[in-house]
Amino acid sequence: MNENVPLGQMTTMGTGGAARYFAEVASIDEVQDALRLATDEDLPFAVIGLGSNLLVADEGFPGVVVRLVGELANVSVGGHVLRAGGGASLAVCLHRARAAELGGFEFACAIPGTVGGGVWMNAGAYGGEMVNVLDRALVVDALAAEWRDSVQLGLEYRRSNLTHGKVVVKAEIRLSPTGGDDIRAVIAEMQSQRKAAQPTNRRTFGSVFKNPLPELGAGQAVEAVGLRGHTHGGAQISPKHANFIENMGDAATEDALELIRLARSRVYEQYGLLLETEVQFLGPRSGQGGSWPPDDILG
Ligand SMILES: Cc1cc2nc3c(=O)[nH]c(=O)nc-3n(C[C@H](O)[C@H](O)[C@H](O)COP(=O)(O)OP(=O)(O)OC[C@H]3O[C@@H](n4cnc5c(N)ncnc54)[C@H](O)[C@@H]3O)c2cc1C
Repeated sequence: MNENVPLGQMTTMGTGGAARYFAEVASIDEVQDALRLATDEDLPFAVIGLGSNLLVADEGFPGVVVRLVGELANVSVGGHVLRAGGGASLAVCLHRARAAELGGFEFACAIPGTVGGGVWMNAGAYGGEMVNVLDRALVVDALAAEWRDSVQLGLEYRRSNLTHGKVVVKAEIRLSPTGGDDIRAVIAEMQSQRKAAQPTNRRTFGSVFKNPLPELGAGQAVEAVGLRGHTHGGAQISPKHANFIENMGDAATEDALELIRLARSRVYEQYGLLLETEVQFLGPRSGQGGSWPPDDILG
């Protein structure tokens, strides 16, 4: 375990403070050792994937953070099933699926996270999401390891029923035989749509809010209240897509939180819609029954 390890640089936004304890873990035993340390010391516990939907408090996280590596980030393909460690990147999984001529995972081409983060978030894009392809995931806590299917994981629109202290160490993803050229064509189309619509060359943390209604995107709502391009400190509501917040260079997490507060209150005042955040938070008391940031942001 290392102490006081900066987490901001492990996130795509690049903001936030340090974890009190941090370790890279490469086996289920190591995950459980870290979980037990947290329990014994009465500290909160969390996993960090690629930090691509995560805001870390500027004051840091006063507990234990682990990142899954080694055996827990491996990917293999057998038959129509892709087996991946929770720490494997979705990009590597997609690459291996394409090499094996297995389709159904193309939606992951623009999601810069891990398998574990993808299960936690039920990540998805362009009509595909983890729930459609996930057979089961191995979830570990301090005492046990248990395979859960997508119903047991409670996968819904950008959420699961996982809580900090439940670690996705492995997943099995069921795909279908598809020609490599077909897979490549779908990926190219999705990537060009993504590039046209979203800020792909800026530091962001993905979607800020969940879409409030099937027919109303969160970005449309934030844009409608005049906040596209609005800045606070070093953070800016993306001029390209109002459901993203960009780090203009020297943003603090608090700058992004301020923009989140402002967007939520304006949309509520003008449309009566309470936007719910999609981005996940790590900070004082998260994972210990308390909340960070305060409830006015979480929705
Ligand atoms: C440019 C950009 C575009 C994006 N586009 C999309 C998109 O189209 N669709 C979409 O759904 N998302 C998108 N995202 C958001 C993000 O990539 C996904 O939510 C992704 O699934 C997060 O994975 P991660 O590994 O980075 O998780 P992190 O951000 O590191 O963590 C997210 C949550 O998952 C938990 N977690 C991570 N790993 C594990 C594990 N092994 N076990 C238990 N809990 C775990 C963390 O504790 C945290 O609560 C985008 C992000 C960016 C920056």
